[in-house]
Formats: sequence, C-alpha cells, structure tokens
Amino acid sequence: MPVEHAAIIGAGIAGLTAALALARRGISSDIFEQAPVLAEVGAGLQISPNASHVLAELGLLDRLTSVWLEPQSIRLISGSSLRELAAVPAGNFARNRWGAPYGVLHRKTLQKTLLDAVTDNPLCALHLGTHFESNLAQCRRPAEVIIGADGVWSKLRQAIAGAHAPHFSGNVAFRFTIPKAEAPGFLDRTSVSALLGSSAHMVCYPLKETGGFNMVAITAGNIAAQAWQGQPTPVQQELLQSRFRHWHPSISGLLRGRNDITFWPLFEAIPGRWQDGDKTVLIGDAAHAMMPFAAQGAAMAIEDAFELAAFLATRPVAEAISLFERHRTPRIAKLRQRGAFNRFAYHARGPIRLGRDIVLSLKPPQSLAADLDWIYGYRPIG
Ligand SMILES: Cc1cc2nc3c(=O)[nH]c(=O)nc-3n(C[C@H](O)[C@H](O)[C@H](O)COP(=O)(O)OP(=O)(O)OC[C@H]3O[C@@H](n4cnc5c(N)ncnc54)[C@H](O)[C@@H]3O)c2cc1C
Repeated sequence: MPVEHAAIIGAGIAGLTAALALARRGISSDIFEQAPVLAEVGAGLQISPNASHVLAELGLLDRLTSVWLEPQSIRLISGSSLRELAAVPAGNFARNRWGAPYGVLHRKTLQKTLLDAVTDNPLCALHLGTHFESNLAQCRRPAEVIIGADGVWSKLRQAIAGAHAPHFSGNVAFRFTIPKAEAPGFLDRTSVSALLGSSAHMVCYPLKETGGFNMVAITAGNIAAQAWQGQPTPVQQELLQSRFRHWHPSISGLLRGRNDITFWPLFEAIPGRWQDGDKTVLIGDAAHAMMPFAAQGAAMAIEDAFELAAFLATRPVAEAISLFERHRTPRIAKLRQRGAFNRFAYHARGPIRLGRDIVLSLKPPQSLAADLDWIYGYRPIG
C-alpha cells in the first residue's frame, strides 16, 4: 500500500518542501522541528532552475518571483584584478534554456514562503519546539514513513545502518551582508559574482529584499574540534584577513574592521545509506550534506523532497525508499564531483590558476551554459 501519512523530522528547506510535495499527492504529514521558532539561519541562497522548477510545481513560483532577484549572469571574476574571466548568462536566458528561472534571495524569504504554504495546507501539521526523540507519539495518526530532514547533524541518521557521520571538509565559510547604503560601486547589482583567488573565493550577489548584498568568503582552513558556526575567533579573523590580504584592495578593504562576519566550518556527509529498507529515510543535508562550491545543497534538498513524494505515492514504503535512494545516489555523486572540481578550479594557485583563466576566457557563454544543462535542466520524477 502506498503511504497515507508521514512523520517528517526537521522543518528546514528539505522538511517543508517534503510536506508540500506529499500533500500535492494527497499524503498528510506531521512535521517536527526542534526550534521553537524557525530562525533566520544563513544569509542568501541561489535557487537554480532545477529547484525553481520544483517550486513552480508546488505552486510557489509566483510568490518567489515577486520577492527574489533574477541575476542577468553568473560572473567569474579575478579576485586580484577584478577582471571578468567568464560569464554564464542567466535571467531570461535561464528561463528559455532550462525552462525555469534562476533566482537569488534571502534564505528566510524561501523558508517563510514554504512555511506559509505548509501552514495553509490542511494536510500538513507543523509542531515547533519538538525533538524527534520525543515526538512520534504526537503524530495525528500512525506514520507509515519517517523522513529525516534534520540537517547535517541528523540524529535520525543513527537509526540507519551504513549511514555515516559528516566530516570536516577542510574549508570554512565567512558570511556577511552589506547594507544598501554601504555597498561599494564595484559590486554588481545585476549579477552573481564569484571572485576567484589562491585557496579562496568570494561569492557576492544583491538581495532584492534589502537592497544590500549577500557575501560569502570560502577558504581552506582548520578548525578546533568543537568549532561551530558563530562569531569568528581572533584566529579565524586572522585567517580571513590573511587569505584576502593580497586580493584587489577593494575586496581586502571590504573585509577589514567588520564585526558582522559569521564563521561557518563546512562539513560534508560521507557517501553511505540513506534508508533502512523498512520505513526510515533521510533527505537533504541529513543524507548528503555537500560543499557549497556548486551552490546546490538546497536545490538537492528540494529535488529529494519532490522525488521521494512521487515514490511514496505509488509504491509500498520499503520499496519506495529503496528506489528513491537508488535513483538519487548517482545524481548526488555527480554533483559532489562537480563541487570538488569547482573547488579545485576556484582556489587554483600559480600556473594552474593562469591556465584556468585562459581556458575560462576562451569559453563562450553557450559552452559554459551547456556544461550546466545536466544540473539546471534536470526534470524530477513526479
Ligand atoms: C555558505 C553556504 C552557502 C550555501 N549556498 C547555497 C546556495 O546558494 N544554493 C543552494 O542550493 N544551497 C546552498 N547551501 C546549502 C544549503 O544551505 C543547505 O544544503 C540546505 O539549507 C539544507 O537544508 P535541509 O533542510 O536539508 O537542512 P537544514 O536547513 O539544516 O534544516 C534541518 C532542520 O532540522 C531541524 N532539526 C535538527 N535536528 C532535529 C531534531 N532532532 N528534531 C527536530 N528537528 C531537528 C533543524 O532545527 C533545522 O530546522 C549553502 C550552504 C552554505 C554553508
């Protein structure tokens, strides 16, 4: 018998999207979120066409397009000279080539859009301030499937033999936003800009909601055993300053003296099992947390949620979750490889960097876009 009711652990992007995708199939759910209120974690998000296609299927695109910004291009720029190396067209080009828009927005805007839709849907019941250890008894009716959407530090993962705890990736992120009034002129208000340098890169894009800019600097770095996101320590501050010291003065100057930067050690999941062959399955970062080098973590969570709902609506649960895992694993593995390649290319040093710059400069936009067809043009089952 296909599933009629699900328990979802975690109300992040994966969990909320799963509740909506299940409801679209007539499957009800209880969603359990440990936080008493859904906090504003993170800053900006790029939502690529593969993810916005799913959000359109869930009826959310009109709400999102009214609040997000569709960049004209994704630009790769030298961090030392600010010279453009290459640009992938986005905007209307993305809509035409990949059949759905490329948008950038504050993470809280996406979360609120999903949350409002969940709250409005009688098939979804959200329970805030509830840890999964204690919550299943609160389900409105017995759940045939338990969906772990509880993020990179998933507790539900422990219930799955062959699932592995995440490991530190050797990279750290520093995130901050620049208010509209303080945004320097060199920041492009129409595009996503990825500034590339030795062992580091920085992604900047405008946020329509505030008129300011979302900034993420990512660099190789070590962490103390218990490091977690928060205010950077003096050592982490020094790492950031030293990595960007020899970049273009406009960028190194931008980082100096800021007290609003947050530190994010980057962990990634080791490939392993996502389901127990019975009734428990992981999605999103709980299953396959990945580096942000391809900006696809949230997009994969959204695709997972949509495709899992399609399997659960048409098959008995044990078969559905095992097919789901088998179907999604190759795509996630390929994306990990693309992320690793981007890490190598974005952070290249010396002669490799020179070679990269030449290759990028010679690539026409159509060829750069063609490289992304398998990611952005993906059409999920369902
Ligand atoms: C620097 C950076 C930039 C990024 N940029 C992009 C981008 O541009 N585009 C993109 O697609 N992705 C991006 N990502 C990745 C993206 O942010 C994540 O992949 C995505 O948010 C994962 O969503 P999730 O719902 O799986 O997990 P989470 O967002 O972590 O949600 C998990 C939820 O589960 C709850 N929870 C945890 N444990 C329990 C429990 N025991 N009981 C109940 N609830 C629990 C948590 O409170 C949380 O609300 C970026 C990531 C980083 C670090």
